[in-house]
Formats: sequence, C-alpha cells, structure tokens
Amino acid sequence: MSNDYYATLGVRRDASQEEIKKAYRRLARELHPDVNPDPETQERFKEINQAYEVLSDAGKRRMYDMGADPFGGGAAGAGAGGFGAGFPFSDIMDAFFGSAGGTRGPRSRARRGRNATIRVELDLSEAAFGTTREIVVDTAVVCEVCQGSGAAAGTHPDTCDMCHGRGEVSQVTRSFLGQVMTSRPCPQCGGFGSVIRHPCMECSGEGRVRTRRTIKVRIPAGVEDGTHIQLAGEGEVGPGGGPPGDLFLEIAERPHEIFERRGDDLHCTVHIPMTAAALGTLITVETLDGPEEIDVRPGTQAGQVIPLYGKGVQRLNETGRGDLLIHVNVETPTKLDPPQEELLRELSKLRGEERPAGKFSPGQQGFFSRLRDAFNGR
Ligand SMILES: [Zn+2]
Ligand SMILES: [Zn+2]
Repeated sequence: MSNDYYATLGVRRDASQEEIKKAYRRLARELHPDVNPDPETQERFKEINQAYEVLSDAGKRRMYDMGADPFGGGAAGAGAGGFGAGFPFSDIMDAFFGSAGGTRGPRSRARRGRNATIRVELDLSEAAFGTTREIVVDTAVVCEVCQGSGAAAGTHPDTCDMCHGRGEVSQVTRSFLGQVMTSRPCPQCGGFGSVIRHPCMECSGEGRVRTRRTIKVRIPAGVEDGTHIQLAGEGEVGPGGGPPGDLFLEIAERPHEIFERRGDDLHCTVHIPMTAAALGTLITVETLDGPEEIDVRPGTQAGQVIPLYGKGVQRLNETGRGDLLIHVNVETPTKLDPPQEELLRELSKLRGEERPAGKFSPGQQGFFSRLRDAFNGR
C-alpha cells in the first residue's frame, strides 16, 4: 500500500473517530503552512489532510481498510497548494479555534464599475415630446486584448505562493489565552489570491481601458428639469473587467421664451387691447403643436385664463398631456388723442360710469399732468 494513513496520523488501526480527529488537529496545528511554511512541512501537511480525509469518512475508511486507496495511490495529489477539493477546511479551523469557522477567501480582482452622470440639455419641445440623442461618454470598457483578466496574452494570473490562493495570511501566536490566529490580507497579492506576473500591455493589468464612445439614447416624452434617466450597465466597466456601473442622464431643460412650464402644464401670457377684450376677438397663439386660433369671448377680464386642454407636455410614463393655460393681459389705451378721449367719455356716459376726473386726467392742467406730458413728449 502506497500510503499508511494510520501511520501518517500516528494512530492505531482500531482508533476511534474521536482519536483520529484529535490526532489530526494536533498535527494540523503543528504543520499548517501559515505556521510552518517550509516545503517539507507543507508536504507533510498535505499528507495528513489526505489521511484525515480518508479516515474521518466511515465509508472511505472501510474501503481503505479493505485494501483500496480512495486516492488511487496518487500520493500528494491534492493540488499545488494542497487545497484540493477534499481539503477539510472546517477541521483546520477546528484545529485552531476548537469550533467551525468561516473564511472570507480571496477577493475577486473584478469589481463593479462606478456610476456616471451626464447632463443633457433639452429645449421644451424635446422634453415635451421626447427625443433621441447621441451622447458622447468618456468611460472605461473591457480591455479587448486580455478580455479583462489583466494578464498578457498567453499568460494567466498565477496562484499566489504566499497565501496559496487564499488571499489572506494567518499567523498563530501564543498568548496567555492560548493560541490565537490572526488573519490579514496577503501582502504579496493584495488579497486577490493570485499574482499577475506579466500584465497586459494594453491596459497595464487593469483589465479595462479608457475610451470615448457614443451611445444613442431615447429620451422619453415628459421629462423635466432634474429628471434622471438610468441606463443600466452603460457606466464604466470596473477594475479587472468587472461589471459596468450605470449611466445616469440628468435632464436640464432650457427655459422657453414664451412658455413657462409647471409640471405638465404650460403657461403663457397674451396681451389684448381693452376694446378687443370688451368686444371679443380672434387671436393666434403659439402652441407646442404650432400656431392656433382662439376665440376670446366678449367681456374677457384682465387676468382671465383661457385653457387649451391637452396642449401641454406629455405626461411621463402615462397617457395624456397637460394643458396650455393662456393668461390674458388687457391693455388699457394710453396716449388718447382728443377724438378718442371724447369717444371714451361718451361711452362712460352711456354706461353710467362717469367718474370724477383725477389730477392726471386729460384737460387737468395740474403740475403732475404737465410733468406727465413733458415725459410723454407732448
Ligand atoms: Zn488588457
Ligand atoms: Zn497572496
């Protein structure tokens, strides 16, 4: 038989499971690579692990006792670091702590990329109806040469020989509390568990390269100033070719010269002469959909609002549009010439609206009136 597992653990052939476990723990403490890194001890460590794997399993132990070696006689076949599939890690931890412990393991070289935000300026009708924009993004993409691995073509990261791929190194110290094992990230590999000996020339081992690319983005109807549009996965690729972050578009809406936007509604102001407000008129107003004729009813008051339903901004992610609200500003005539003044006096008389003349009324030659006339260039 190629291996005498009982001898390796230093137990009798009729040892109980408890005795085997005890023997293994004692040896593991002694021979653990973190305690005793010399190659010979590591070889021994592999052997005791193999022995323990067989003898701690009732089925494998029975096979072994009948003359079959579950490892097929391939001694030390547990892999370069001795951490093959059968590595009884929790029992190792038991050896040090007396109870099962977890492990963090090596951290991945690939990390998620950062999110990015880009400001997009739109004018009102683009915001109202939606638009398509080509956006230039300075970002990082996966390095095509190494496919994100960071290793030069034809090479691959090597398992770190300091931590054997675990990404952390442990140290056992004796204190009055007994043995204490402390772990810290491996200084050689930075906790990755592997070392890139030949970094990719293209990305210097980063696994990603800076680039400028143009993406076409559909901006939905109804966005407004401050709206954020999330483009999942369009951010920069992470270190080590990690998954990309998200790209956010922050909408900045340029002010419109006619319309003021409040939510989905638009507001504008039209000025009509007093006479037109009194008699009613047809006016043409601008809307987002082009000029539109509206009927101003006779007797329209200053400050009155004429609604054009459904002529506002498309509701974001909903059906329907807001309204266009036209605020009417009635202009009182100024600079009346004598016949106009005469007509207005006549009108006020007919309507029974005669009021006493004020200090500034035409025909009143007060100081303020003369001043006003001087101002108006009469
Ligand atoms: Zn590369
Ligand atoms: Zn390492």
